[in-house]
Amino acid sequence: MPDVEGPFSRLTAVALAGREGVFDIELGPLGVADISVSAAAHARFVAFPGFANLHAHADRAFTVTNARPKSLKDALAASAAARMAFTTPDVRRRARRFFERSIGHGVTRLRTHTDVDPIVGFKSMEGVLGARQAVKGRLDVDVIAFSTSRNDLAEVGSVARLRDALEMKPAYIGASLNSSKAPELALERVLDLSEEYGLPVDLHLDEHLDANTTLTARVLSAAKARGLAGRITISHGCALSVLDEQDAMRLVDEIVEAGVTLIALPETNLFLQDRRSGTPRLRGVTLAREAAAAGGRVRLGTDNVRDWFFPFGDGDMLDTGLFAALTLHLDDERALTAALCDGVACIEAGTRDIVLIPATSFDDALARRPAERRVFRAGRLVSAETV
Ligand SMILES: [Zn+2]
Repeated sequence: MPDVEGPFSRLTAVALAGREGVFDIELGPLGVADISVSAAAHARFVAFPGFANLHAHADRAFTVTNARPKSLKDALAASAAARMAFTTPDVRRRARRFFERSIGHGVTRLRTHTDVDPIVGFKSMEGVLGARQAVKGRLDVDVIAFSTSRNDLAEVGSVARLRDALEMKPAYIGASLNSSKAPELALERVLDLSEEYGLPVDLHLDEHLDANTTLTARVLSAAKARGLAGRITISHGCALSVLDEQDAMRLVDEIVEAGVTLIALPETNLFLQDRRSGTPRLRGVTLAREAAAAGGRVRLGTDNVRDWFFPFGDGDMLDTGLFAALTLHLDDERALTAALCDGVACIEAGTRDIVLIPATSFDDALARRPAERRVFRAGRLVSAETV
């Protein structure tokens, strides 16, 4: 246990993710009050800013005990069949479990795509909103009303359904455009709703490896034409990795210049992209390293956790960090910390949320990913996981 003095903790002998040295940290009512060089020669803990899992699916979490989809399409079909049995209490219970696991791992902000389609109606929204209430103050949950691939916004009835979900006050509008029978029309309708409701947009986009059917350029030009680019997040973007170098870099530059957020999901993309009977030849992850190097808003998420799309995972962003280091080579300490912590590359005075991990260095934390983490919000301990 860290040394404690007074009403707030004083954390001694701490290494900081993203900064050289060993430090002592004073906590106060706003979070980190002061950071000073420690008398200790070696760190006992590593402090990260609060982890931000910016792409999750809490409503689907913990629905399978084992699953091996043959492809993304196969997973979508299995998901559609199983989601028919969802009830609001069932979603609330599983989402709550996912949120509690996330808090234990040091996640303090979580953005969750919440299914809206004819299969679940509003049960996922109701369940996730209920679970969010239960963790209020410990975890900031941004709910995305997610118009799934089974709610094609090219159809008027689907737009009406999404509108009803937006009346439930989510923080984001989400959609999956690639499977639409008219993706450009679906895109315009998402942007119409974004303007009408004043909500940012997070798209499942180009989650495939076919260079000929990419929508990223269309999304960028449509969003820029409306002055909405800074309100857009592109999640997945797998197909950027198979474009020819010039086209790919032009799009990366455009994403960065427009202020579009790019979210990489290494775990599910490794699992589902280029899935075949043999060994995959392609990694299927987006060009996060290039975007980060160009100063872009690159973020990470766990994506699915123990459902038809991904049977593993536990909502632990350190796992995702290790996968990002291996898959994207996003292994620069500050760049990786920023991607894991919603743009914060290192804690400093004024940082509200911190996660204390019993490890001697950044690499030690990433290598071992120890479970015994302590999570502080505004100077107060909100979780001390010991399992
Ligand atoms: Zn997703």
